[in-house]
Amino acid sequence: MVSDLSDLSRIESQKLRLDVKEVNLNQLIGSTLSDFSMTASEKNITLTYEPNPETVLIKADPSRMHEILANLIDNAIKYSPSGTSVTVGFVRSGDAAQIEVKDSGYGIPEEAKPHLFEKFYRINRSASEPKGTGLGLFVTRELIERQGGKIWFESQVGKGTTFYFTLPLSQKNGNK
Ligand code: ATP
Ligand code: MG
Repeated sequence: MVSDLSDLSRIESQKLRLDVKEVNLNQLIGSTLSDFSMTASEKNITLTYEPNPETVLIKADPSRMHEILANLIDNAIKYSPSGTSVTVGFVRSGDAAQIEVKDSGYGIPEEAKPHLFEKFYRINRSASEPKGTGLGLFVTRELIERQGGKIWFESQVGKGTTFYFTLPLSQKNGNK
């Protein structure tokens, strides 16, 4: 993706600027998911999101947040067979929001797990492996860590993968 490449050069030249604001997580997830509704339906993949009834505000750069989610949803769709589903959700966890993107796709082999966030790393499962640059997860992790969050995943070959990431909550959230 073009934005991953320009982010990479900004990250490496330490010129990545963040425009941190209050971001409504429900709205952000909803609008990012709608960007993928065509791609998902073309592959017969069900994209689901059950909006959380409470308003959760995070401290983040909205366009970077969109990029992060888009990279994870793109992967979830790309590395899943047709007829499966991709689910996005979030919970509050202490002073952070924890977002998850879950698929029932090919999964990540044990030997690949330690390398997944490396720059240009890709898994070669077969000749029909979808194309990519191997930059998506490297850039995604940088963007999350620069905003005070963390990213990790759980995966089993043949069962699927769930990516989790956190971002700090805004002080303006109601205390519930
Ligand atoms: P790019 O995102 O730059 O177009 P890419 O998708 O190959 O290319 P990454 O997003 O960094 O690069 O992912 C690295 C590798 O991790 C991928 O090649 C893929 O094999 C594996 N991977 C990433 N997400 C998933 C997932 N949800 N399920 C299975 N494998 C995944
Ligand atoms: Mg990718």
